Amino acid sequence: IKRYFLVTFKVIEFRDEFLITIKDITNRRNASEIQKNFISNVSHELKTPLTNIKGYLIALDGAPDEMRNKFMKVIKENVEKLENIVLDFLNISKIESSNLLNIERVSIDNIINRVDSILQVLIEKKNGKVDYNVRLKNQKNIVKMDVNRVVTILKNLIENGLIYNKNENPEIEVEITEIDDRYIFNVSDNGIGIPASEQYKVFDRFYRVDKSRNRNSGGTGLGLSIVKSLVEQCGGKITVKSSENRGTTFKFFILKDKN
Ligand code: ADP
Repeated sequence: IKRYFLVTFKVIEFRDEFLITIKDITNRRNASEIQKNFISNVSHELKTPLTNIKGYLIALDGAPDEMRNKFMKVIKENVEKLENIVLDFLNISKIESSNLLNIERVSIDNIINRVDSILQVLIEKKNGKVDYNVRLKNQKNIVKMDVNRVVTILKNLIENGLIYNKNENPEIEVEITEIDDRYIFNVSDNGIGIPASEQYKVFDRFYRVDKSRNRNSGGTGLGLSIVKSLVEQCGGKITVKSSENRGTTFKFFILKDKN
């Protein structure tokens, strides 16, 4: 790794000496690098849809009726994209501002129903033909966990499993196991998969595998970075295993509440 040091010289008056201090500022420097990249990524992500909206608005003026509908559709898609980016930013700032967990006792049915109702619109877009399985292994139906965080994690993973999926009948399987001090979740889909060389990058902010295949998904590249932060806040870790054209499995655990 590259390290950065700040070196300062101070001449000590009336003495034949001077003081040299060397400070390792690698962490500070990396943090500001990340911040700088984040701002430039954000600006870029916002600029693309804005440029599209502006261009199509100009083209709308005086366009024949059949073209107007097409242009309006593109404008609407880009407004939705901007909306998604802003919602993801709000999510990130909410996550970063509160580390406190809110542990509740609920049934897994309740969690799954909440995820399901958030995803209804997307499921309807897939003609309602989603095979959606939840399996509990070694697990009672009642759990104690931060429900809001777990619902957001599952919503993002299942949403991706449906979006990056070209099957007539997309299948999503959620398996939950309770072992010792943790709950282990496996979320699998039968979608397009992620190439091995890209898998380690998908949790990075704004990272999107091959933008051309993603063009119409309306995604922001922020979903999995939000998921990773949420899992870590629950004391856990997340990993991905995937094989192209066969499907993807995200595995994560969260620690049980000990109180
Ligand atoms: P996005 O907003 O692009 O969906 P994410 O952070 O959720 O952003 O995902 C990052 C990228 O990882 C996506 O653009 C997609 O290419 C890939 N990806 C995520 N989940 C899946 C999945 N279940 N199957 C295939 N590719 C996926």
